[in-house]
Amino acid sequence: MRFRFAPSPTGVLHIGGARTALYNWLASRGEKGELVLRLEDTDPERSTEENVASILEALEWLELDWDIGPLRQKEREDRHRECVQQMLESDLAYRDPASAEEVASWKKENGNRGYRGKGADDPSAAVRLRVPDEGETVVRDEIHGDVSFPNSAIDDFVIARSDGSPLYNLAVAIDDLDMEITDVVRGDDHLSNTPKQILVMEALGTTPPRYAHLPLLHGPDGKKLSKRHGADSVQALRDSGYLPEAVRNYIALLGWGTEDDETLLTTEDLIARFRIDRVGKAAAIFDEQKLRWMNGRYMRGLPVDDYTARVAAFIDREVDDRLRDACEMAQEKAQTLAEVWPLIGYLFEEPELDEKAWRKVMKEGSADLLESSHSALADLEGFGVPEVEKALEQVVVDSGAKPGAVYQPVRVALTGGSVSPGIFETVSALGQEQTLSRIEAAIDRCRSEQGATG
Ligand code: GLU
Repeated sequence: MRFRFAPSPTGVLHIGGARTALYNWLASRGEKGELVLRLEDTDPERSTEENVASILEALEWLELDWDIGPLRQKEREDRHRECVQQMLESDLAYRDPASAEEVASWKKENGNRGYRGKGADDPSAAVRLRVPDEGETVVRDEIHGDVSFPNSAIDDFVIARSDGSPLYNLAVAIDDLDMEITDVVRGDDHLSNTPKQILVMEALGTTPPRYAHLPLLHGPDGKKLSKRHGADSVQALRDSGYLPEAVRNYIALLGWGTEDDETLLTTEDLIARFRIDRVGKAAAIFDEQKLRWMNGRYMRGLPVDDYTARVAAFIDREVDDRLRDACEMAQEKAQTLAEVWPLIGYLFEEPELDEKAWRKVMKEGSADLLESSHSALADLEGFGVPEVEKALEQVVVDSGAKPGAVYQPVRVALTGGSVSPGIFETVSALGQEQTLSRIEAAIDRCRSEQGATG
């Protein structure tokens, strides 16, 4: 079996395109088939080399590879022109100078039937395919079943412009034939193009491939997926701190599922179990919150060295023991790579104070409790998690305050905010010297604020 992924480099790779790529990839690995990557770069205005580079980068990040290509549709233009010529010679196609207005008025007079031109001996006229009046063109679709289009409703459509340049549906049909594609898996938005591509193939006396048209992606609000639903391109997902394996797993489930609805599937599982004919017809919902959850699961499952290496790459820092220890501490809590630095950054640099967190946490007795914590911690010989834990728990017991009343002011003093890994781990990781000096600074601030208010 031979599949193909055929993006047009007219923009970045969006999530829908990534899913199409992934399904083709999974199916071609699973069936021990092959995958062709074909860049449909024939739109001179909108296709750019930057988009090509960005699509290839996105596929690489997702770790999706291919066996043949990247082939470029534009480089095959001579072949497309040759086919048009052949079809003209065998009268499967004809030249027709009718303008769009003339076609429209013809259709109006003819009960909106598919347009049939008279043809003319005009070498500078556009070329149309002769579509039969009888019968119907049936798209045999693995997802939608048989979808029939009556031929009488299909226009004799243009396959080459008046300058001879081939049009999209012709190029796709010829390429799929020449590249011996057996299975076309692509977005639903192409379903209406498919009968035209089949008609070209049939005119050439060949059998069309199998088709599978994937349902559109929607956001949780049921509207077509777009930027307002969050990250919408592969690069945006990467830059938001998602792991490629989590993205792959999540995207695989957009429209497809195993019989028992498992959610966490390794790439090997996906390859072994993915089946195109189990893809649903209804629009699938992309919900970034679910992706976050899944990403958190993958993050927690990484070996700590791998985890540290990925965090380091994300925040552009060198890997060292301190970073490794800090990452280990954050691993339970962070759902994305982007969430790690806010959980550990205060270990490496002076934190920025979150004023809101400060006002919420610092109460009347906070300065006194900070004093008690300070002296308990100052007395310690060892500063490991167990020693710190014992000392701070003793402060709770001695003061009779609630644990949060003791720990939260310490947390804000050390980290600048009210969210961090466990308080004992945080204190221990920061070390005695920094801990004491940040607590002192917080006490000073508390005192001066109290002085100011009364
Ligand atoms: N180039 C088309 C697109 O990016 C896909 C065409 C196809 O898969 O047949 O939407």
